[in-house]
Amino acid sequence: MSRACPVCGGTQRFAFLERDRVPVFQNAPRATADEARAIPRALLRLVACESCGFVANDAFDAESMRYAGGYENEQSHSGVFEAHVETLVDGLVRSGVRGKRVLEAGCGAGAFLRRLCREGGNTGVGFDPAYRGPDEDLDGAVRFVADYYRGPTGPDAGFDVVISRHVIEHVPDPRALLHALRAACEDRPAAQLLLETPDVEWILSHCVVEDFFYEHCSYFPTGALRYAAACEGFRPTRQSALFGGQYQWLEAVADAPEKPALPEAAEVERICALARRYAREVPARIAALERRVAALAEQGGVAIWGAGAKGVTLVDLCDPERRRVACVVDINPRKQGRFVPGTGHPIVAPEALREKGIRHVIVMNPNYEQEVTMQAGAVDPTIRIHVADRL
Ligand SMILES: [Zn+2]
Repeated sequence: MSRACPVCGGTQRFAFLERDRVPVFQNAPRATADEARAIPRALLRLVACESCGFVANDAFDAESMRYAGGYENEQSHSGVFEAHVETLVDGLVRSGVRGKRVLEAGCGAGAFLRRLCREGGNTGVGFDPAYRGPDEDLDGAVRFVADYYRGPTGPDAGFDVVISRHVIEHVPDPRALLHALRAACEDRPAAQLLLETPDVEWILSHCVVEDFFYEHCSYFPTGALRYAAACEGFRPTRQSALFGGQYQWLEAVADAPEKPALPEAAEVERICALARRYAREVPARIAALERRVAALAEQGGVAIWGAGAKGVTLVDLCDPERRRVACVVDINPRKQGRFVPGTGHPIVAPEALREKGIRHVIVMNPNYEQEVTMQAGAVDPTIRIHVADRL
C-alpha cells in the first residue's frame, strides 16, 4: 500500500475489504426509482493501519461527495435516538457545559446544539453544509452556518467547547478536522473537545456487513481516536462506549503534551486480527444474509426498517435487483415517497406495511428493535420482526 495512514503516517497498511461500485451516498433518497438507480457508484477499499489501527477507504474520492440540499440524515424522529441525545445533553450540562461558547462542526439539522444551548444556557454556532433552517434560534443564542467548519474566522473563534458528532468518519483527513477544532479553542487552554463516532472494533468483532459504506471513509478504534486528538493538541480525559457499543465518545482538553505515544501494540494487533478475520468471514456472511432474506420473501412480503446507511447498504448487498425486499420503511417523512439511492427500493411510512402485504420486517439497528416492534405491531400485530445482525 503506497499511501500513508492519514492518522499516524505509517505505511504498513493492508486491505481487508473491497466492494466495487457501491453507491456514493446512502442518505440522499431520490424522487424516482430511475434517478435512485442512476446515482454515482465508486470503489470501497478499506485498509487497516498496522501502526495505529485506523481504518480508511483508501479509494475514497472526496470530489464525488457533496453534502448539501437533498442530504437527509435527521434521526430525531426516533424516540430511541431522541433519548440517546437527551442522555448525552443532560450528562454534559451536569458535568459543567453551562454558560459556555459552543461550536458544533457538522450540526445536521441542529437538534443537539439547540438542546445543549437551551438546557445549559450556552451560546452556540453550528456549521453544516446540509443545514437548512433559520440562521438564528433561541433569541440569538444559537447561530447556524450552512457550510463546513474550516477553522476560526471573525466571530467564529475562541470557543470553550468544540463538538463534532458523527462527522469525523465522513472526513478523509481527520487530523485536519481536529486541527481546525483545536484552532477554534485558541487562547482557551481549558477548552473541551467532544467527539462521537462509530467504534470500528464493534463493526469488525460483530462482522457487521452493512456498517461499511462510502459515506464513511474514516473508521476509528478507540486508541487511534485518542491518538489523533492528542496529535492535534488535545489531551484525552475520558472515553466511553455509547449506543450499545456501536459508538464511542471522547472527551479531551486543549492542553496536550508535545508528543503523544502511538496506541498500544496489543490493541492495534487486535484490530488488525479482527480485520483479517472479517475479510475471511464476510463473503459467507453476505451469502447467508441473501439466503435468509430470500427464504423470508418466499413466506410473504419482506420490508427493511430504516432507510439510513445500514438499510441502504444491506439492500444493495442482498437485493440489488429488487426481487426480495418489497420496500424500506422509514419514520422520517422527508424520506417517505422517495427511493433508496442505488437500488431504487421505495421508501414508505409504517402505515404502508399492510397495503404492501408485508409479513416480515428486518430491523437494521438492534437498538431500535423494541421501538420498531411497537410501531410495526400497531399497523399489523401479526408482522414478524427480525434484527438484521441476528439473521
Ligand atoms: Zn496509522
